[in-house]
Amino acid sequence: MIAIDGYSGCGKSTLARQLAHKLNYVFLDTGAMYRAVTLYVLRHGIDWLDEAALTDALTRIQIDMTADAGGKTHTFLNQESVEEEIRGMAVSNRVSEVAAVPAVRRFLVEQQQRMGRNKGIVMDGRDIGTVVFPDAELKLFVTADMETRIQRRYLELQANGFSVTGDEIRQNLEKRDFEETTRLDSPLRKAEDAILLDNSHMTPEQQLQFALDLANGRIRKEN
Ligand code: C5P
Repeated sequence: MIAIDGYSGCGKSTLARQLAHKLNYVFLDTGAMYRAVTLYVLRHGIDWLDEAALTDALTRIQIDMTADAGGKTHTFLNQESVEEEIRGMAVSNRVSEVAAVPAVRRFLVEQQQRMGRNKGIVMDGRDIGTVVFPDAELKLFVTADMETRIQRRYLELQANGFSVTGDEIRQNLEKRDFEETTRLDSPLRKAEDAILLDNSHMTPEQQLQFALDLANGRIRKEN
């Protein structure tokens, strides 16, 4: 189990996917699960601060994650593929609010722990090394400077056909940073034993090599 946590738009998913591929591990993008729950509550007009309504809604949500041969994740909400829709700004602008609700976190953390048990898996998220798998064999905490994060998110959204400005992305990232680091339940923070990876000046290949060197050392030592 390898835990990769950090800020939004730092390239965590890219790293986690490539690392899983190299190690023959499964990749799990936990952010997609929070996004799928957010999509459900937005579509059904559910007030996520209304605990009873939200708890009831959660009983009607089934999330499935699959990976295709190229390692790309597909997210299903009640059997419907929502992989594209969950990446849009409508979901991005609300997801950190929904993810702050304890009932949502309990619902998803329990599933993530079940999926990760007894398995070689790379999970990317915000609380994997601190809450979901505190005894992960390797924990990375990824960060990058704000301008780099904006630029990367901009290119990613453009490539996926979303039209969005740099300012909208900046506002979204700043809002999510604030909400994720200040929430009471499972705030985003570096686990004490996580290794800090600032990839502002690294290519995807360089960050993969950095993580692989660490992973190979750890996995060999533990087995
Ligand atoms: O990783 P991604 O940006 O897709 O995650 C979407 C949102 O889900 C984050 O902004 C965060 O609020 C929430 N999240 C979380 N805990 C996780 C993964 C994601 O709170 N483990």
